[in-house]
Amino acid sequence: MTDWTDSTLTTWGRSRYARSAVIAPDSEAGLLEAVRGSHARGAITYGGGRCYGDAALDDGGQTILTRNLNRILSFDSVSGETVCEAGVDFAALLKRFLPEGFCFPVSAATASVTVGGAFANDIHSKNHCAVGSFGHHVQWIDLMLASGDVVRASRNENADIFQASLGGIGLTGTVLRVCFRMLRVPSGAADATYQRIANVDDMFDTIEAARSTHDFIFGWVDAMARGDKMGRGVLELGRYAPDEDGVAPPPPIKPIRIQPPSAFLHPIVLKAITNRRFNAVPPEGQSARVGLGPFFFALDSMPGFNRIYGRRGFYSIHTGFPRETQRDGIRKVMEALTAVRAGSFAAVIKPMRGPGDGLLSFPMDGMAYAIDLPRRSGVEELHRNIERIVLDHGGRLYVAKDALMQADSFAQMFPKLDAFREILAKIDPDARFQSDMSRRLKIHPEAARH
Ligand SMILES: Cc1cc2nc3c(=O)[nH]c(=O)nc-3n(C[C@H](O)[C@H](O)[C@H](O)COP(=O)(O)OP(=O)(O)OC[C@H]3O[C@@H](n4cnc5c(N)ncnc54)[C@H](O)[C@@H]3O)c2cc1C
Repeated sequence: MTDWTDSTLTTWGRSRYARSAVIAPDSEAGLLEAVRGSHARGAITYGGGRCYGDAALDDGGQTILTRNLNRILSFDSVSGETVCEAGVDFAALLKRFLPEGFCFPVSAATASVTVGGAFANDIHSKNHCAVGSFGHHVQWIDLMLASGDVVRASRNENADIFQASLGGIGLTGTVLRVCFRMLRVPSGAADATYQRIANVDDMFDTIEAARSTHDFIFGWVDAMARGDKMGRGVLELGRYAPDEDGVAPPPPIKPIRIQPPSAFLHPIVLKAITNRRFNAVPPEGQSARVGLGPFFFALDSMPGFNRIYGRRGFYSIHTGFPRETQRDGIRKVMEALTAVRAGSFAAVIKPMRGPGDGLLSFPMDGMAYAIDLPRRSGVEELHRNIERIVLDHGGRLYVAKDALMQADSFAQMFPKLDAFREILAKIDPDARFQSDMSRRLKIHPEAARH
């Protein structure tokens, strides 16, 4: 096993950095050694680093990288049951299993997410209405606790640890192995239609009508549109394709290496870009047969996309609202954004069909709306306004994207937090696993008392 080395780590949003002692074990024995090395500021596990904020960072502490725990251990070609180490990423899953007719059931919009990271945030995708979130497909995990013991946790065995670890942002321990079911797919492609959406009401009506008819539902929202056009965008509806005939070639890859000057983020420039994107879809709509790689991992067609907001990085505000309040809540969020002319390339909307099985899982029966915003003056105040709107509508913010939420808001948004704390008190009373996020959100039982 290699030694601890000092390193500076960041995550996708590049708004948060941590100086930390880092280690990348390649075996269970190596992980045990890492977990046993004690440190006052604890340790956190780091997978692909594709969370946006501070969930995988531990400034002044220790970080356990899972990149060398990357073996696929078994696969049942009848049931799709797969066992792999937690550092396996979604690119590896697609490469290995698509030729055998299987695909992951749920993914993020980038292939660099690891299976451990997908579990630790119980990720949801544009097919949430059809298949739920990642945790719904997980049979069991092997988790190394703070004590160094490895426990198997499932819905039947150590069920409390399973529920706490699913969406538990790495605070219950390091997930070593995950057993989940890959999905048999008819081909390596999806049939997608793209239609223009006139405004926020049109967006909601069209999504609601598609909830039970399509496998995939995903709206890109023109965050620069105001007034009658607020909430306009392009809605993608998709199904798995019966075959791969006529698959559209993936878009050319142009890595973004530069960090554009702030003038590039001027509202006039952003508006020109979002107009272009809206108008790229003809008024009558269009359809395409797309390979599953580009279909799932649209953002990977622009490597370095996270540099586009400049040197100071960016924030994502990823909201979720229950069905009863989703329309009013998301409308108010859009109004708050347009009132201050907050500029962004990326705002997206996705329906969700119900809760995840984790105590801190984000999904619910309702709608998710997320926007990326450059980190500049005024954005923190805007975040506070949106946090208030979300609370007033019984919604929540997604910790995978978060860097700014306040601890008392978090406690209100996640009513099972006390149950989570009870389990932490039992399995990790000294808070061996902690992160910048867990301290900011006062997640540990001791921190909650101050
Ligand atoms: C371009 C892009 C698109 C995205 N799209 C979506 C999306 O569509 N839906 C969605 O839900 N999310 C999405 N995300 C967020 C992403 O899926 C989550 O943040 C995911 O957790 C990142 O996984 P990771 O392997 O990079 O984990 P990291 O970012 O390294 O860590 C995230 C959390 O998981 C914990 N963790 C990681 N590995 C382990 C382990 N082995 N054991 C215990 N804890 C662990 C970390 O401690 C941390 O708390 C997107 C992110 C990006 C950058």
